[in-house]
Amino acid sequence: MYQQYLSIAATAWLVCAICSAFIGQQKQATGSGFLLGLLFGPAGMIAAGFVDGRERCRKCGGPQNRTDDDLPYPVCQHCGAEKSVE
Ligand SMILES: [Zn+2]
Repeated sequence: MYQQYLSIAATAWLVCAICSAFIGQQKQATGSGFLLGLLFGPAGMIAAGFVDGRERCRKCGGPQNRTDDDLPYPVCQHCGAEKSVE
């Protein structure tokens, strides 16, 4: 009975970690999201909503999704300013 409860809890915890990874993935922070979910479970899932691995525009501060595939040159998706190439 106790073991059954434990395995359900462990599964739920892992689901939290995976969900957090997906939440983080939206903002290029998959690893951080997964770690948060793994460490803090449901609370980490909420925390994953706040992590943001994306770089921000120097001009307007807007988060930049990596769309290098469909953009010929890097420009801000919010204000159109050219991003500095590192
Ligand atoms: Zn911008």
